[in-house]
Amino acid sequence: MKTGGYPHSGDLVLAKPHRDDYFSRMGLSEQGLMGRREAVRRVCALLAPLVFMVVFAVAGAALAQPSVTAVRIGAHPESTRFVLDLSENIQVNVFTLADPYRVIIDMPALEWKAGDGGQGEAGETQGLVERYRFGLFQQGNARLVVDLRKPATVRQAFVLPPEAGHGYRFVLDLQATDRASFMKTVQVPPAGPTAQPPAAVQSAPQKRGDSRRTVAIDAGHGGVDPGTISVDGTYEKQVTLAVALELKRQLERSGRYNVIVTRQSDIFIPLGERVEIGRRGKADLFISLHADAIANKDIRGGTVYTLSETASDKEAAALASKENKADIIAGVDLGAQTREVTDILIDLMQRETMNYSIEFATLLIPSMERSMQMRANSHRFAGFRVLKAPDVPSVLIEMGYLSNSQDTRYLNSDQGRREIAAAIAQSVDDYFQRHDSRLSSP
Ligand code: ZN
Repeated sequence: MKTGGYPHSGDLVLAKPHRDDYFSRMGLSEQGLMGRREAVRRVCALLAPLVFMVVFAVAGAALAQPSVTAVRIGAHPESTRFVLDLSENIQVNVFTLADPYRVIIDMPALEWKAGDGGQGEAGETQGLVERYRFGLFQQGNARLVVDLRKPATVRQAFVLPPEAGHGYRFVLDLQATDRASFMKTVQVPPAGPTAQPPAAVQSAPQKRGDSRRTVAIDAGHGGVDPGTISVDGTYEKQVTLAVALELKRQLERSGRYNVIVTRQSDIFIPLGERVEIGRRGKADLFISLHADAIANKDIRGGTVYTLSETASDKEAAALASKENKADIIAGVDLGAQTREVTDILIDLMQRETMNYSIEFATLLIPSMERSMQMRANSHRFAGFRVLKAPDVPSVLIEMGYLSNSQDTRYLNSDQGRREIAAAIAQSVDDYFQRHDSRLSSP
């Protein structure tokens, strides 16, 4: 359902003033005291700063994003009104998804000035609303995902114009319903933002005869999916991006690697797309960065995961299923995805790839142990979707626990991030040196 219809308030039309207006305003309507040329010159000199100011103001207006200034929820047992206070009118697209029950609100890129609820899982249960998350879904598009406590229909969704001391407001009215009725409303917009594949971010196109190896670095989570959240409010998506960019810097500095990153800003990338970015870039190695959280706050240290259909233990299985829910958290309709990476069978090629992944993991762990805390039994196996490229050796690194205060401090520090990146970069060197020497030996 598409709401809106109000004129976009961001458009600023600059009428070109008729030159005669200036002449008449300045008493220059007739060729009088000075020549026409001189008059034009003087007017231009007077206008120059004015034009500059107008251009500056327009540029400023273009930079200032519309914002959400507050969230208000009016909850009744069977109906809930969800209101966003907006700085200006926006176009909104609303749809629902099942399993779990969600309402997805797509909007242009917005600044969230309404507290924590929009970033993480801090939004508390109110009426039919379990919680909500806000974030960039892709370049130019923000998304709000409202998790429902039970099935509910969207009775109306619209933007209200300013009145009675209120600015623009987005209003979503929810009414409790049964599963069968909800399922009838589930409908993904035909040309939703997911239709456009996100652009892979590559440092430089690899030239012919380029001997550099290509390493893909995947910063876990992002945008509307914050990942794990620490007690001090650190988001996993921030930690993973910071380490990813530091690792990219260190690998590129060596001159030996062409580096691809799956994201370089706070944006959501679906799991399958992360895998595809690595494959399209012909990556020789794929490194996915994450940080975990666990109920026992004393547990700390890093863990390295490689792909296996049978998880090495219950904890690894639970973690993989948690990480694999990233698309659901971001409000991606899994049913609409045409290519399922999960369907790729483990064939001979993948088995060889898995052996290389294990080889990299066995070099990575001692390298990380030299600079940081690792968990006992630090190499584990599970069915992470992001590790399923059949032809790219891949590892997933849980760099530590955001539920542990020491790990959180380390992951939040520049020194910690530099050390983790250096340990990974060292093992990347070790891995390719081994391969190159194997190739050159008779
Ligand atoms: Zn994660």
